Amino acid sequence: MTGIKEPSFRESVDLMFNRAASLMDLPPGLEEKIRVCNATYTVRFGVRLRGQIHTFTGYRSVHSEHMEPVKGGIRYALAVNQDEVEALAALMTYKCALVEAPFGGSKGGLCIDPRQYEEHEMEQITRRFAYELAKRDLINPSQNVPAPDMGTGEREMAWMADQYARMNTTDINARACVTGKPLNAGGIAGRVEATGRGIQYALREFFRNPEDVQKAGLSGSLDGKRVIVQGLGNVGYHAAKFLSEEDGSRVIGIIEWDGALFNPDGIDVEAVRQWIVKHGGVKNYPDATHTAEGGAVLEEECDILIPAALEGVVNMSNAERIKAPLIIEAANGPVTAGADEILRKKGTVIIPDMYANAGGVTVSYFEWVKNLSHIRFGRMQRRQEEARHELIVSELQRLDRYLGDAWSMSPDFKSKYLKGADELELVRSGLDDTMRIAYQAMSEVWHDRDDVEDLRTAAYIVAIDRVSKSYRAKGL
Ligand code: GLU
Repeated sequence: MTGIKEPSFRESVDLMFNRAASLMDLPPGLEEKIRVCNATYTVRFGVRLRGQIHTFTGYRSVHSEHMEPVKGGIRYALAVNQDEVEALAALMTYKCALVEAPFGGSKGGLCIDPRQYEEHEMEQITRRFAYELAKRDLINPSQNVPAPDMGTGEREMAWMADQYARMNTTDINARACVTGKPLNAGGIAGRVEATGRGIQYALREFFRNPEDVQKAGLSGSLDGKRVIVQGLGNVGYHAAKFLSEEDGSRVIGIIEWDGALFNPDGIDVEAVRQWIVKHGGVKNYPDATHTAEGGAVLEEECDILIPAALEGVVNMSNAERIKAPLIIEAANGPVTAGADEILRKKGTVIIPDMYANAGGVTVSYFEWVKNLSHIRFGRMQRRQEEARHELIVSELQRLDRYLGDAWSMSPDFKSKYLKGADELELVRSGLDDTMRIAYQAMSEVWHDRDDVEDLRTAAYIVAIDRVSKSYRAKGL
């Protein structure tokens, strides 16, 4: 591959888009309209900290407004730049279309190293950034709804929501201006782990399709599969934890900023997470071998590789050496377009980011709906459901008495059956359903069309088709 330049993140997304669009029959001009980013705002603002003014640069990019509000996270990192937020905004458009979340795509970022600031300083900076965005309607329940991304979480979302509410005191829907808020500030149960949960549901759906599993050269279920995860942040941690604790997968490698842990017998994900919280990194963790050169573990033999950190980690310099037959992109853009080509030729199956990590925005959608309806999910139906179930249970109990030794109710049937679903259960059910349906839409294209070699192209085709229909319905 020498001589061929590695595409930037933005170029990678465009290349992947073009690959899919070339297999579609879009009206002239519409392809270009869908691909381009509508607008990217750069804001520079000063905050007085430690006796002097610090200037910060932030972005909010709006990729497509075929549906409004537009949606997407806000990232805090030093490496944030326009190319990156535009690529991420474009991915949000396709991601929302694929999982049928009724939003256009957007993304934001602030160039900052959050570790350099105290909590009260972060609050000042975040509130000021939110002010700059809100006054341009780049935070607004009906126009642009941010969410967490790398470097941000519930805390930042609560500050932003409060800042918006202070600026819009009569907006009854103010809480719907951002998602990913803490539960006590208008959030929804299950949002924090939603992206990781989505990875688990995506993999379960993949393994429900033996034909697809076979394409990756694998067989059976998730049970016993060897997993390597890169990045034990919110997404990687939850994905690895759920897969190992609930599906019987074995996490054999964990790659972090200060090296990688490897243990072919399996690593306790929760214990490593606690170690990181306490020590700041994975180094010296006792129950695995530590390698300083973390990237090498990406190339270890395993069944499933989960890149859950930055974009571009699988690129033209290492793609050839990646041994995992199945990659699920928990991060946005972890495989460059160049690497994608190399891996495709090798027969590696990639479950693409726009589908794999869509659990976050899916549950964000539920949170936004909850905020607009001003009522917790399940509040009206739960007890009524329980009362109706009680009727059946009492009839069964009558039968139980009547039949004597011939038949009896299973011991925990009553309590299990009686329990009405709470918000968390409803969120999980909605997420599971979303991930299954989106997978089916994507894999149908993959199976039915001879010219579609991979899931990523199939995902783009489904997404672009939906966006184009929505533009056409608008008369464009
Ligand atoms: N930042 C997440 C993503 O990349 C979540 C976006 C959202 O919930 O709006 O999908």
